[in-house]
Amino acid sequence: MLTGPNRYYLEKHFANWHPRNNDRYSVIFLDMNNFKNINDNYGHTIGDKILVQLAQRLQSACADEALVVRQGGDEFIFIKPYTNNHELRAFIIFLIKSIKEKIYVDSLEFYLNGCIGVSISGRHDSALEELLRQADLAMYEAKRSHTDFTFYSEQLQQISNERSDIEEALHYAFTDNQMYMEYQPQISSECGRIVGVEALIRWAHPTMGMVSPEKFIPIAESSGLINTVGDFVIDTTFREVLEIYNLDIQQPIRISINISVRQLLTKRFRSFLNSKSRKYGIRPSNVVLEITENVFIEDLDLIQNLLQELKYDGYQISLDDFGTGYSSLSVLQKLPIDEIKVDKGFVHDILSSNQDNALILGIIGIGQNLNIPILAEGVEELEQVILLKKYGCDLFQGYYFSKSVNKDRLIDYLNNYTPFELHTHNEICSQ
Ligand code: C2E
Ligand code: CA
Ligand code: CA
Repeated sequence: MLTGPNRYYLEKHFANWHPRNNDRYSVIFLDMNNFKNINDNYGHTIGDKILVQLAQRLQSACADEALVVRQGGDEFIFIKPYTNNHELRAFIIFLIKSIKEKIYVDSLEFYLNGCIGVSISGRHDSALEELLRQADLAMYEAKRSHTDFTFYSEQLQQISNERSDIEEALHYAFTDNQMYMEYQPQISSECGRIVGVEALIRWAHPTMGMVSPEKFIPIAESSGLINTVGDFVIDTTFREVLEIYNLDIQQPIRISINISVRQLLTKRFRSFLNSKSRKYGIRPSNVVLEITENVFIEDLDLIQNLLQELKYDGYQISLDDFGTGYSSLSVLQKLPIDEIKVDKGFVHDILSSNQDNALILGIIGIGQNLNIPILAEGVEELEQVILLKKYGCDLFQGYYFSKSVNKDRLIDYLNNYTPFELHTHNEICSQ
């Protein structure tokens, strides 16, 4: 086993090793997960001892089958003759198993985990440098998608190129006025009125066309641009909603804003939000912060404190995409939540899937037990409205009522809206 920062040795040994196995070979790139936490919590001496043990373990797992290099820190590279995918997979699964076996250091127990990226040489092209790059890219994909290992593919390369293009383009999107906000009405199931709107960001790029927030928000998060996005959303939404309030069409509606986890965890988030709500005179009690369920993967106590501070300032908190994450009842009880948004994935199939139907009933039951109102998103059909209302859902949002629309069209919508009414004999009546 070679240790230390070792590309140089890798290349030298590879040159000796490769001719003997003149055929195809694979490069396996392993990066340990959260190893920094171990160093931070237990110190570097223990961290190093763990890595030495791990290195020995990996070495013996490989026997003579592969060349192993510790590429500094907590990264390892394996080079292995390639015969077929089946064998390679079996080898990787074996590696992962040995990585996950408990490690004892100074009578402490450690459970390690890592992500692996794999690339395979062609018959003729076998430049090590390129294969290392490919395996590295595949490893990042494994990290991103929380899987143990990923094989490099052209498609992966394309996705990665697209990500870089989007990241690059994001830098200009704001100065170029490519971003704007749309708003989607939320309707009370009780009175049929519009009680709020969800603000959704839109990006019209001159050559890429409309880029979905589902695509660019995660990229903004991982590239540190999320605050630029988040600041724009808060500022624009408050400004436009104030214009709507000033028209006195109806009582001030509430404004739901999506807040990404990274944004929430930024120190200045709270003061920024407060300064904008003061600037535009938007009362915090009219602002709902939508937080997705996956925030709870982060430090729960920290999140709880942050949410409590925001509650203290007067904001409401909505738990978005509910049902897709891991929150338990106790988490829901612990956190100051004012609304649960049932993910549109469940709403979509309530009419056809018994399972989704049962899930929705369960979720609404949870809300009722905890006294938290439930909003169903992605409501597209009248039959869904009827069923959801029967189940006790409090609010609706979805194409059945309206798609998201820009500020001017929202004003038209509000001006022309008549509260809908659902009669017990299941027919809709607009007045
Ligand atoms: P989300 O918060 O779950 O937003 C709901 C998504 O469902 C929106 O997609 C909306 O246009 C769409 N939708 C609404 N009604 C229906 C319906 O009846 N049927 C179907 N099939 N879809 C419906 P959109 O605008 O593409 O947003 C996607 C996601 O991007 C959002 O999911 C949210 O997670 C994120 N996002 C959007 N705007 C922002 C933003 O300003 N900031 C942050 N951090 N994230 C945002
Ligand atoms: Ca949302
Ligand atoms: Ca959602």
